[in-house]
Parts: sequence; structure tokens; C-alpha cells
Amino acid sequence: MRNRVGQAIQARESELLAPFAMHSADTVGRRHEEPPHPYRGPFQRDRDRIIHSAAFRRLSGKTQVFADELGDYHRTRLTHTLEVASIARTLARALRLNEDLVETLALAHDIGHPPFGHAGEDVLDECLANDGGFSHNNQALRIMELLESRYPAFPGLNLSHEVLEGQRSRVNKQSDLCPLLEVQIVDLADSIAYDTHDVDDALENQFLDPCELLEIPLWQEAATRMRDRHGSIEGDTLRRAILHELIDHQVRDLLAGAEVVLQEKQPATAQAACDGGLRLGPSREMADKKRELEDFLYLRVYRNPRVMESRLVAQQRLREMHERLAADPKRLPDKFLARVTADGPPRAAADYLAGMTDRYAYQQYQRLCSA
Ligand code: MG
Repeated sequence: MRNRVGQAIQARESELLAPFAMHSADTVGRRHEEPPHPYRGPFQRDRDRIIHSAAFRRLSGKTQVFADELGDYHRTRLTHTLEVASIARTLARALRLNEDLVETLALAHDIGHPPFGHAGEDVLDECLANDGGFSHNNQALRIMELLESRYPAFPGLNLSHEVLEGQRSRVNKQSDLCPLLEVQIVDLADSIAYDTHDVDDALENQFLDPCELLEIPLWQEAATRMRDRHGSIEGDTLRRAILHELIDHQVRDLLAGAEVVLQEKQPATAQAACDGGLRLGPSREMADKKRELEDFLYLRVYRNPRVMESRLVAQQRLREMHERLAADPKRLPDKFLARVTADGPPRAAADYLAGMTDRYAYQQYQRLCSA
């Protein structure tokens, strides 16, 4: 099972990575053993497998928060994912963690998202209430281990143990096991990315007025710092400066905290960091301010009547398609029909629907339900 890693890759990582980073040479390996690649390390191969997967490509047509009818400025699930990867790699490089593993985890973290964002996830969970439920984190694991079929020798993507375990820790967040630092920083980068870009998208779509945001300390303080630095900037220029500052400020806060805890514990290996329960995170003050911003976004943006209205239409259509396909699984494409014996019609139908982009889901709705 142990995956041998080329000497050049080992030497490069020993030079560049901290002792507590996840070194490729220490990977547990893959379920189906494969010969080492001549010039790519195991986590580089994992990243490439994610990028070349159909599930990753379809992120471009999936809603993050704002649906397509609202315009073309806002993030899709794909551009959100790229922002997460960018922030996570910055954190990884600053902390001398394994950037390849971090990039893989970041690019993969949302591949299990169904169409229509959390609205889609909630309705599929409802449809599978008696069949184990649905969550995008668990669905990402099904895609990685089962549903992607790109290689003749095995189902799924045969990813490294550390990538699968990283994703598994997202499914069971209550677990006492402390994940690798690479896994933790992807989670933290996800939160930095969406807290910031959801404000930007909400302002652009006029769900929020910039004046309202001045009641939110995280925003207000960033605005003050930007005015102090740049003089009297206003409007879009100020807004963009604040958004950059919000990311920077959160990254600086995280790195400052990480430095203290790493200095104090000095874990000798990645495993020692896990065994010692080493957790990275924002400072208490930052965590409180982020919560305030998130509560505000929840009320003013995620529950906005315009967002809720498109949510209801999407949910009703997904529910109807699920009912029809679960009752008559012969209408499923062969790949999903083949899973009915093992998983039952409700799960096979959900796997099919979860893989769709928003646009394709609406097209299929016409085909399946309007005849
Ligand atoms: Mg995400």
C-alpha cells in the first residue's frame, strides 16, 4: 500500500516543508496500488485527478449563493473554489505546509455540491430522509471513491489516503480526531473566502447598501484602515480596497495565531501535530467578528426574498425529478441505473441529480416532468 515517492520530490519537500507538514514520502498510499510517477508526487497526481474530473468541471455551472438570472458578476461554485485554493495556498506556503495536498483538498472541497447551492442540498436531503440523507461533503467522497469512472483499473479516482481522510473529516466535524494541518487550513480558507465574497456579490446585486455594512465591526474597521492608507476613497474603489483588506486581515490574524501555537508545541511530524490535537483558527476576537458578519449575511442575504424565491422554484423542480426517477429508475442513464441494485433507486436518483449543473437540471426537468 505504501506509495514510493521519487527521491527528487522527497529532497525538495525536505528542504521546503516544515517537519510538521504532510510529506509525500509519509503518505499511507492509495487503496489500489499504483507505480510511482516519474516526475509528479502523489498529491500532485491527486490534484490533477480532481481537475480532470467531470464533477470539478461542472462546478462552473453550479450556484454558490446567487443564481444566474441575477447577472454575471457573482461567484459560481467554481470561482469560489479557486478563491479558496488561492487563500489556502497562501496560508500553506507561509506555514511551510504541503501546498500540493492543500491545493488538492481545496479544489475538491465542494465537488459534491448539487445544483442550486444549499437549496439543492436541503431538498435532496429531504428526498433521502429514509435512505441515509444527503450532504455535499459525503457526496464528494462518493464521487472520489465511486462515481467518477476515468480509469480502467478501479472505480473512483483512487486518491491518496490523506485526501480521502481530509474529506472524511469534513463529513464528521464532531470527530475527536484532529485532522492534518493541511486539512484545517482549507476549511479556514473556505470561511475567509465566502465571508468576503458573499458581501461583494451581495453589494453588486444590491441586496445590501454599503452604509448598512458600517454597522458590522469587521467591515467598518477595514474601511477605516483603507481610508487611513489611501485617503478619501469612496464608492467601488473603497469597496474593493475593503474586500482585499478583509482577506488580508483574516489571513494575517490566522498566521499570527498559528505561529504562536506552532512555536509552543513544535510538533516533530504531521502525525505528532494530529496526535497533540494541534488546532489552527482565528483569534477569539476575529471569530466573534466573523460570526457577527455571518449572522448579518444570513438575515440580509441568504434569507432575502429574491434569493428565497429562486430557491423555492429550484427545490420544487429537483423534488419532482427525484420523485419521478426514484419511482421509475429505468429513466436513469445507464451509469446510475447500474447503481440501483447496490444503493436503491432513491440514492441512485440523487447521485444523478447531484451531478447536474443548474442549467442541465432545468433542461432535464423539461424532459422528465413537463411531458
Ligand atoms: Mg466552499
